[in-house]
Amino acid sequence: MLRINELKLPLNHPDHALRDAIVGRLGIESGDLIDFTVFKRSYDARKKTAIVLIYALDVEVRDEAAVLARLARDPHIVPAPDTGYKFVTKALPAPGTPRPVVVGMGPCGLFVALILAQMGFKPLVLERGKIVRERTVDTFGFWRKRKLNTESNVQFGEGGAGTFSDGKLYSQVKDPKHYGRKVLNEFVKSGAPEEILYVSKPHIGTFRLVKMVEQMRAEILALGGEIRFQTRVEDVLIEGEGSARQVVGVRLHTGETIPTRHLVMAVGHSARDTFEMLYERGVYVEAKPFSIGFRVEHPQSLIDVCRFGPNAGNKILGAADYKIVHHASNGRSVYSFCMCPGGTVVAASSEEGRVVTNGMSQYSRAERNANSAIVVGITPSDYPGHPLAGIAFQRELESRAFVLGGSNYDAPGQLMGDFVRGVPSTEFGSVTPSFKPAVHLTDLAPALPDYATVALREAFVAFDKQIKGYYKEDAVLTGVETRTSSPIRIKRHDDNLQSLNTAGLYPAGEGAGYAGGIMSAAIDGIRVAEAVALAMVG
Ligand code: FAD
Repeated sequence: MLRINELKLPLNHPDHALRDAIVGRLGIESGDLIDFTVFKRSYDARKKTAIVLIYALDVEVRDEAAVLARLARDPHIVPAPDTGYKFVTKALPAPGTPRPVVVGMGPCGLFVALILAQMGFKPLVLERGKIVRERTVDTFGFWRKRKLNTESNVQFGEGGAGTFSDGKLYSQVKDPKHYGRKVLNEFVKSGAPEEILYVSKPHIGTFRLVKMVEQMRAEILALGGEIRFQTRVEDVLIEGEGSARQVVGVRLHTGETIPTRHLVMAVGHSARDTFEMLYERGVYVEAKPFSIGFRVEHPQSLIDVCRFGPNAGNKILGAADYKIVHHASNGRSVYSFCMCPGGTVVAASSEEGRVVTNGMSQYSRAERNANSAIVVGITPSDYPGHPLAGIAFQRELESRAFVLGGSNYDAPGQLMGDFVRGVPSTEFGSVTPSFKPAVHLTDLAPALPDYATVALREAFVAFDKQIKGYYKEDAVLTGVETRTSSPIRIKRHDDNLQSLNTAGLYPAGEGAGYAGGIMSAAIDGIRVAEAVALAMVG
């Protein structure tokens, strides 16, 4: 198999053009082309009137060696790399060895458990939230009736934080071992559309994610794993002092203890009580940077036209996304985060009396509004003094948002023009916000520290140069975005992926500060599963 990279064709090319282009590019007879598959398809929309599709193709030809030798100088024609996943071990641990325990069943915990199960280990998964169908009822209940279940919501439950999401599956992490491919293949096996394997920015959408999570659960169980829902880990049992500290088990909220010497903590960025417990048990934790800001809603049609011009609405391109950055004059970076084309803004609280926003969409991305977080980067120097100070800082902003929204889980909101001018909003314009239960118009400036407000005001105006029409008087801002990533890092050794000062503890995924997003959390899950497996077989 050989790989052709960077093969470009016009957006609306006919199907046969691809075959013709391969034959032309390789300089072979049509009959010598046996088969081909699209490995990746992206687009270049810099010229809106002449959008180009860019293909990477895996091609089977009659005399591959001869073709490769003839085209040896062409950097875009190479032998196709082997992206198949290979298990690092399949050996079973010695009889009587306590099972590996995985805490959290978000994308990271799911992949730790799945890979361990596929290797023949029988992991025990402990998840504080409910199974995904019951969780969906609780989450929609909160959005419709303002009734928050602090253990079953957008952040907590089977599938983790990204279950009610846009299901974007791309990441910028380095992936030399092609773990991302394994993740995508597992998702397709569990019901994701096949196109996620080749489109450059795959997404799944909420409803399909729910079904996929159920499928993956079934596989873990079929391979001998065990999963306990509504089971919160409240303590980690550690023996020994100094460099001899070793995990020996966990204590659950029921008081039950479970022995293990291999404990994966994949608890996500919202498990604040769990972070506090780990800190109190002496596990090494440090503060890390994250970002704060608002969700912004524009009409999707505005973004489509701006990005795709006359090709707006083209089926291959879908609803347009965007990625924008502005370096504000006060030194702060302002950037778009978790942009959801054709989606909705969602209430993402997990604690009483606090309001947090986020975004989701369905596979079709057919809702009227485009939404994105627009956030300001902050560092531990903004919340100095304690490794967990970032959590207190997040809580403070989320409590402020709750009060500004009317103390009933409505999100505080403001029109973009009013926010930039510093006057409270009283009436919506052409953009109807999608957030449920409702948006309460107010002045958003007190929701964030002054430096963030100043930087955001400057950025909204400046973004208009990058996306014409972005500075829109009646675009709606809702707040606050605080759960952009974990405020802490539970540091681990680079080689064995165990905690810096506690053997047998594997901090993993977004909560531990080693991932940001579904894909990178899943990839980290594979890496951690491999580290656990290798440690277990010695
Ligand atoms: P999580 O998914 O947070 O999972 C952690 C799990 O641990 C939770 O299920 C929690 O209940 C459980 N847990 C916590 N503490 C305990 C405990 N003490 N005992 C037992 N269980 C515990 N990312 C993308 O890449 N694309 C998107 O489109 C996208 N959209 C998003 C939309 C929303 C609304 C949200 C909230 C997030 C979105 N994200 C998106 C981010 C993405 O969901 C996270 O990066 C990802 O889920 C992190 O995975 P994780 O497994 O590390 O942690």
